[in-house]
Amino acid sequence: MGYCGSTRKDRRRLPSTELPTQNDNVVTAPPPPPRRGSDALPLPLYLTNFFFTFLFAATVYFLLIRWGEKISTSTPLHVVNLSEILSLIGVIASCIYLIGFLGVDFVQSVFLRSSSDDDDGWIPNDDEIDRLLKIESDLTSEEDEEIVKSVIDGATSSYSLETKLGDCKRAAAIRREAVQRMTGKSLTGLPFDGFDYDSILGQCCEMPVGYVQIPVGIAGPLLLDGKEYSVPMATTEGCLVASTNRGCKAIHLSGGAFSFLMKDAMTRAPVVKFPSVRRAARAMFYLQNPSNFERLSLIFSKSSRFAWLQSITCSISGRNIYPRFACGTGDAMGMNMVSKGVQNVLEFIKTKFPDMVVIGISGNCCSDKKASAINWIQGRGKHVVCEALIKGEIVRNVLKTTVEDLVELHVLKNLTGSAVAGSLGGFNAHASNIVSAVFIATGQDPAQNVESSHCITQFEAEGDDLHISVSMPCIEVGTVGGGTQLASQSACLNLLGVKGSSDKEKAGSNARQLAKIVAGSVLAGELSLMSAIASGQLVKSHMKYNRSSRDIGPSSQVNR
Ligand code: ADP
Repeated sequence: MGYCGSTRKDRRRLPSTELPTQNDNVVTAPPPPPRRGSDALPLPLYLTNFFFTFLFAATVYFLLIRWGEKISTSTPLHVVNLSEILSLIGVIASCIYLIGFLGVDFVQSVFLRSSSDDDDGWIPNDDEIDRLLKIESDLTSEEDEEIVKSVIDGATSSYSLETKLGDCKRAAAIRREAVQRMTGKSLTGLPFDGFDYDSILGQCCEMPVGYVQIPVGIAGPLLLDGKEYSVPMATTEGCLVASTNRGCKAIHLSGGAFSFLMKDAMTRAPVVKFPSVRRAARAMFYLQNPSNFERLSLIFSKSSRFAWLQSITCSISGRNIYPRFACGTGDAMGMNMVSKGVQNVLEFIKTKFPDMVVIGISGNCCSDKKASAINWIQGRGKHVVCEALIKGEIVRNVLKTTVEDLVELHVLKNLTGSAVAGSLGGFNAHASNIVSAVFIATGQDPAQNVESSHCITQFEAEGDDLHISVSMPCIEVGTVGGGTQLASQSACLNLLGVKGSSDKEKAGSNARQLAKIVAGSVLAGELSLMSAIASGQLVKSHMKYNRSSRDIGPSSQVNR
């Protein structure tokens, strides 16, 4: 039919990104059936058939009677009255219908084509184009439709679509459609197009159906160690970027901040079991014996040229030990790398202590993604300290408060208040706000925000000025691996000048620099938020930038 021809033409004209995908329609309409003679009347088929058969019989019968009369009265046959003309039309129409119904295509093609088909210059309007593209989409995705059904039936497992189809985007579209149909809920609003589904396969996310958009704002320039950084922050919390930006301004006007990396070691602590405390203690002494370290270190590093063992410290609980391995991981955040190294060592230890049973490669003394004193005291990832001396006039003019008020607030909030609350690593105003926003923007593991946000902030008066510092013992970041290689996250790392792997000689310098930037940004965030609280501006500014007039209610209070 002409519809299909026109659709193909249109499809060729449009770029593929403009074509509708399965996901655009929860349930797409089936293509209309081709028009046939039986569509001549808006009646059920049997009534239409009955009508035309009756018409044919009645008109033929009438004409035969008339012809008989004419012959008997010697009237010429070609002299016809109106009723005979109408009867002739009825005979012809019913003949066409009946021949067409019996499937004689020639008759259909000559008499039943729609007028629009005859119009070569037909230009569809927008609605028609949409409808036609939908039809085309269905026509070309019959196979996809079958796969969607088989996912819904359970005959095809959703997780295997990428492998089976060899096309990540198509797999995601089919899964999305299946999810919508199974749940009866629309995913409209969750974007689908504009994402590279190949880039996350086997690395970042399984069974994708789309992606979530998070706005990225820029705070800065942050003047850190004499260099300016524009800090990308992915957040949906109004005020956060503006506030950090104000802190950056105060730091910049005061000559900048300075950062120091105290330690760089990712940790992993398995739990291993022995038949007795005596055997567990023996193994522990073996692992901690300095004369064994070099050997263990070589074994540890055999799975990665970037992983180098720095220390092993063991904890013991009855006949179970928790050897905590700390190692450098270059520019990678390093969890995979350190886990592989630990596995190498455990295999070796097993040859020395065959009665050892590895209960788990992680025994929670690591401690990954959980608040723990061991991280707070010994550190995990990058331990960074950052400081700035903020001039008294900047405190008054930019931060709209005084050094005295800031110091008093700091003592009673960050130190005393946190102690009263029994805080673990939470001696700060909102380090996790900045850590999370920078983590998400730069492709870090957001769950590691837990320990990466451990921070003790200090506000101390120095003459008329304010000395501020943040000490953060567990910043866990990388510039290779995980989400860092995805396009948008990679762009944010690029903005900071720390994208990817650093020079071979300076392996790890990008990741270390990123950790320093995180700490510098936290310093700016602490300075600004504390000033807002000290000057009583916090709620007012949040009402203006965070909760907008559309949503001011009891739940819109600031949670810090
Ligand atoms: P993680 O260990 O952080 O979970 P991966 O498992 O992706 O991350 O490991 C990082 C990968 O990147 C390893 O295969 C490593 O060899 C590679 N790599 C390339 N350049 C570097 C670098 N400069 N520092 C660390 N790893 C690097």
